[in-house]
Amino acid sequence: MLAIAGSKGGCGKTTMTIGLADAFARMGTPAIAVDADRQLPNLHVVAAVDRKPTIADLEKATDVDDVVHSRPGTDDVGVLPATDATKVDLEAAIDRLRRCPERVLLDCPSGAGPDVIESLEYADRVVVVATNTDRGLRGAETTIDVARRLGVPVAGVIINRSNGVTETLESRLEAPVLGTIPEHDAPLTGTLPRDAFDDVAGRLTLGESSVEKRRDDESRL
Ligand code: ADP
Ligand code: MG
Repeated sequence: MLAIAGSKGGCGKTTMTIGLADAFARMGTPAIAVDADRQLPNLHVVAAVDRKPTIADLEKATDVDDVVHSRPGTDDVGVLPATDATKVDLEAAIDRLRRCPERVLLDCPSGAGPDVIESLEYADRVVVVATNTDRGLRGAETTIDVARRLGVPVAGVIINRSNGVTETLESRLEAPVLGTIPEHDAPLTGTLPRDAFDDVAGRLTLGESSVEKRRDDESRL
């Protein structure tokens, strides 16, 4: 379970959640994007699916697939909206989704309040989204601090709305930069920049396999 977080509102968490879910599916890994932003749920809008059913309907469903929406135009991307969902609904949904074979991505709320902490605590790892401005980077630093205090590993940072990245960013953030996503037109119409998202998803997967390998090597010693 991967949390997509970033304290600054509008930095691109929801867009990155869908862009990454699409990229994982292209790599052959089915993904489910879950709206964990219960106060301002809009993942369904960006994903172009209906607002209902939602995570609140999961409890009554025999099969997860009865509630998960299929994202139009993609194979293997599921979407779970959070319109009118409670904290308890989200918790129950996450418990159930943990048992699913798909890769689950949590679209976190903005800020660094209790709802963000709650979403980060569910996650195995967090991807931080930031824009390359001083305010944007300070927002990323806040999220990285919160994650580290909670003991949730930071998989890396995505620099959104940018065409290039300097090494100084990695030393400032003390976290790997997974890649940059350029400014693009009409993000709601499904024209997300594929290559950039494929690169970020590839780097995320590589990072995971090196952690797995280190664990294997250590257990063999
Ligand atoms: P968050 O979930 O962090 O609040 P969103 O993903 O909803 O942010 O993005 C906020 C706004 O910025 C949306 O209108 C979205 O379409 C736009 N946006 C995000 N990333 C990009 C990008 N790389 N290029 C152009 N517009 C973007
Ligand atoms: Mg959002």
